[in-house]
Amino acid sequence: MKMLINGVSEGKDETFNIMNPYNKEILDTVPVGDRGDVKKAIRAANKAKKSLQAMSSRKVSEGLYNAYDSLKKEQKSLAKLITQETGKPIKDSLVEMARSVETLKFAAEESKRIYGESVPLDAGLGGKGLFAFTQKIPLGVVAAVTPFNYPVNLAVHKIAPAIAAKNTTVLKPSLKAPLATIRLAEIIDAEFPNGVINCITGYGGEMGDELVVNEEVNKISFTGSVATGLLISNRAGMKKVTLELGGNDPLVVLKDANIEKAVKGAVLGSYLYSGQVCMAVKRIIIDKIIADEFIDLFIKETKKLKIGDPMDPKTDIGPLIDEDAAKMVEQSVVESYKKGAKLLLGGNRDGNFFEPTILDNITEDMNIVVNETFGPVSPIIRVDGVDEAISVANNSEFGLQGGVFTENIHDGLKCANEIEVGSIFINKQSTFRTDNMPFGGFKLSGIGKEGVKYAMNDMTRTKLIAMNLK
Ligand code: NAD
Repeated sequence: MKMLINGVSEGKDETFNIMNPYNKEILDTVPVGDRGDVKKAIRAANKAKKSLQAMSSRKVSEGLYNAYDSLKKEQKSLAKLITQETGKPIKDSLVEMARSVETLKFAAEESKRIYGESVPLDAGLGGKGLFAFTQKIPLGVVAAVTPFNYPVNLAVHKIAPAIAAKNTTVLKPSLKAPLATIRLAEIIDAEFPNGVINCITGYGGEMGDELVVNEEVNKISFTGSVATGLLISNRAGMKKVTLELGGNDPLVVLKDANIEKAVKGAVLGSYLYSGQVCMAVKRIIIDKIIADEFIDLFIKETKKLKIGDPMDPKTDIGPLIDEDAAKMVEQSVVESYKKGAKLLLGGNRDGNFFEPTILDNITEDMNIVVNETFGPVSPIIRVDGVDEAISVANNSEFGLQGGVFTENIHDGLKCANEIEVGSIFINKQSTFRTDNMPFGGFKLSGIGKEGVKYAMNDMTRTKLIAMNLK
């Protein structure tokens, strides 16, 4: 596939092979762009601002609805492409596509609802006789940088709200999985003037950096690792920045939890896309009174997961994105045994496959719970009561989402109130998102919120207009 700049497909002499992580087949190539290509895409986006902002909100909404219809028609073929380039089980890629289609619809709806408000300036000293209201106006050019794990959904969460709020965009997907994202950009491009959406491919360091420092970019919307997020935040200067970064989400299971429900949440939350999900359950914090009962059932249910070809609709666990990723998970697991963890299930790596792994006797200083382990691993920390559970849950630099299982409403609400995360679910695991909810973490997990309406708010600026009626 090719880059998309100003409505034109652009190739380069140098290309990068996109490989299927399951069978190692080369699926396609993409151009390796450079700073010059980024500048060209940004110039195109800057020029297209005028045409997009001249469109009525009704027309913008219609364009997004048309893109929604087109994406819907292609959702099965794009789900297949996501599975081929990421190794994500097909049943999960189908869900990613269904959510992506819905996100476009949310954007088409929200593009008609960009309201300001009247402001009673006469409530302030000297404001008598002034009539005032605010307008939400577009920022200009939004740079969207996305990771490999949800290549269509995370891209649509940036470009659809950007366009709905009349911003033009330059999108840079991960080189590990850019194909379905390029197709998404082509589908949206067909509905808007050239340059409204541009999609460039190449190495993150060089191309990403140009997006971050270029003066014609007004906002950076980034999803990816904390390390890259920190680099961006140091380089962005006065630009608006939204950072959706890593997680280390706790699943808290209190003594009066419904164990079956909690186990179901733990299995789904830990092993969806082999744990390569920002909001995956990364730490299971369980009251020691029910720990053994929970663990027995958790092992039994985890053993039922089917590992294999991600294209098989029955597969639950496919490969990790590459062998380096699987080796990093292995290293963390091995290090935890050395420090006294007890391996209850799994623990083996075969190439880029890693078995679902359950570890007991985890202590809070082990790397496996200090850092984000991006793989199918469930470290269990036993605690004594709700206060210790909250303290362990909060002993993390991350704060994306969390889940608490308990039938005691007081303890459930206490956890919800005191655990420092962007969203918390009672009797549900953290690995859950609807595309209209405000989504975004606290602490190192990020800055700002996504979720169409909230992303649009972060992609506009507020202008006050006042008139002296005296
Ligand atoms: P990554 O940080 O390696 O890459 C993300 C993107 O940044 C890629 O497109 C990459 O090319 C680009 N990039 C690399 N260097 C850059 C630079 N210097 N400037 C600008 N861009 C640069 O992340 P990844 O490995 O693709 O994704 C996994 C990470 O993403 C995990 O930490 C996961 O938790 C996180 N994630 C977070 C969310 C969320 O919504 N909070 C969602 C999905 C994934």
